[in-house]
Formats: sequence, structure tokens, C-alpha cells
Amino acid sequence: MARRRQIYEGKAKILYEGPEPGTLIQYFKDDATAFNAQKRGTISGKGVINNRISEHIFTSLAAIGVPTHFIRRLNMREQLIRQVEIIPIEVVIRNVAAGSLSKRLGIEEGTQLPRTIIEYYYKDDALGDPMIADEHIACFGWATQEEMNDIADMAIRVNDFLSGMFAAIGIRLIDFKLEFGRVWDGDYARVILADEISPDGCRLWDIKTNQKLDKDRFRQDLGGVEEAYQEVARRLGLLQPEEESAVLDLDSHRKKRGK
Ligand code: UDP
Repeated sequence: MARRRQIYEGKAKILYEGPEPGTLIQYFKDDATAFNAQKRGTISGKGVINNRISEHIFTSLAAIGVPTHFIRRLNMREQLIRQVEIIPIEVVIRNVAAGSLSKRLGIEEGTQLPRTIIEYYYKDDALGDPMIADEHIACFGWATQEEMNDIADMAIRVNDFLSGMFAAIGIRLIDFKLEFGRVWDGDYARVILADEISPDGCRLWDIKTNQKLDKDRFRQDLGGVEEAYQEVARRLGLLQPEEESAVLDLDSHRKKRGK
């Protein structure tokens, strides 16, 4: 493949210059990190699966009118996206207590929340992505009030849509993280959904067994990480029978090598 200019390398993805101005290529790696990158590893085949899952979700969201950066999937690990100016805020939507919320407030993991919570974190690895309030966002000018209203509205729409989509395949959407970016139309900026939506940034539990089907398997060393990501893709109907067997072959190959 022709040499391309790398724009940015993150923990799980690489961004390359796109074929046209205003576009980028988003490459999904198998690398995984947790606890602000203190824990590192690889999840074999994760990039391929997340590329497919994120494509599916962003395409479905576009179909209900949520604007996103996704243009089209290019190959197994890459998708063409619109270049955006990333808003430096991680938006976390919670339906059920888990993770940092359970820890911080002492609420038992798995407790259904009486209403959906939206939280904001400042995207800054050196600071460990601290939680922030609307006041900080306004004070430091990270986003305007109008942009924050649009972000909250979109977050709720995405949550409603994804909760239903996952419930239909026997998965409970516990919480997830979204990122947004600005696109410019002359002097006018508009906010669209960016980044990815995949088991890397969602908590997904089997409705019947409460089994974790997401990155918590990696964070907590529960094993079966690859299988959990595959299971989500399989339930979403994204694995063709031949791909499923290819994935299984990979597994048996790894087992043969004693890994
Ligand atoms: N999350 C994420 N990236 C982050 C922090 C959180 O994708 O940098 C996701 C995480 O996967 C979970 C949700 O946001 O689905 C809420 O995470 P939480 O605040 O509980 O933090 P964690 O337990 O990951 O420290």
C-alpha cells in the first residue's frame, strides 16, 4: 500500500490522512489499555471486530438522524471518516451502576439507576481524564452551551437506540463512552458523533447470565476476551459463517502454539 501520512496514534487506533481533504482513515489496532494505560496488552482480532461493530452502529445511528463522522468501511481494519476538531470531553452515559461510579459512590455494581446519568471527563491522559462539570466546560471554553445541549441530546438518543438494539440480542447496555467533534461549514460549526462505539468503550452484560461481554474481561483478567468481542459481533449478525470459522481456526492455531 502507498505510504500515507500518519496524523495521530492513540491507544487503540491510528489516524492517517484521507484520500480527500476533510477526510481521514481510522485504523483499528488490537492493542488494549486500561487504568489510564497502566495495564497494556493485545486482544487478538479486536481491531477487525471493533471496525465492524462501530461501522454497524454508526450506520444505524445515521439512519435515525444522528450525525456521525463515519463515511464507509474500507477494509478489515480501516474506515474512512470525516475529519473533525475533537471536543476534549469524554461523555459517559450510565444506565446501571458499575466501574468508577460504583467505586466512587459505593453503589453496588449492577444496581439499576432510577434515571440515566450523563457525566463528563476532560480528555487528558497526563491528568488521568478527570471528571468535570458543565461549569468547567463553560469556564475553560471547551465547548459552548449550545454545543453541550446538542451533545446531551445526541447522547440520550444514542443511549435509547443502543439500549434497544442490544436488548434485542440479549445484552444489557450498562454504560458507555462517546466522543464528539466539530465540523466547520464556513463560519458555522456543527457537532457530530466521532471516535468509535465498540466493546472497548461500553459495558455490555448478557441479560440472562450477567456475563461481561466487553473490555472489563481484559481489565479484570477474566479470560475469554477475544470470545466476548466475537460474541457481540455474532449476535449483531456481523460475522459470516466462514469468518466465524476463520476466527476459530485462529484460536486453535494459538492454542496449538501453547499461547
Ligand atoms: N470508558 C472509556 N474510556 C475511558 C473511560 C471510560 O471508554 O477512558 C468507558 C468504559 O468502558 C465504561 C464507561 O466509559 O463503559 C464508564 O467507565 P467508568 O467511568 O466506570 O471508568 P472505568 O471503570 O473504565 O475506570
